[in-house]
Amino acid sequence: MSVPYLPLEAWNKRWTLDGSEVRCLLCGSGQNLTQAGAFHHGFGCKARTVEAQYPSRELATVLQEKIRLGLF
Ligand SMILES: [Zn+2]
Repeated sequence: MSVPYLPLEAWNKRWTLDGSEVRCLLCGSGQNLTQAGAFHHGFGCKARTVEAQYPSRELATVLQEKIRLGLF
């Protein structure tokens, strides 16, 4: 049975993994997955939001949810 799981797709529309870095697809700025602070975009990046962004935590939550749902 195929279960569509949109959050990971949504995450992938904004971010990408580059080795141990999470990278913004728009500005290319990167942050190591082990860095706990908010993500810093490049100057003028349209992906920047008023609220602080934590793509590493988002990814962790997505994966935990997949495990919880038995999709892994
Ligand atoms: Zn950006």
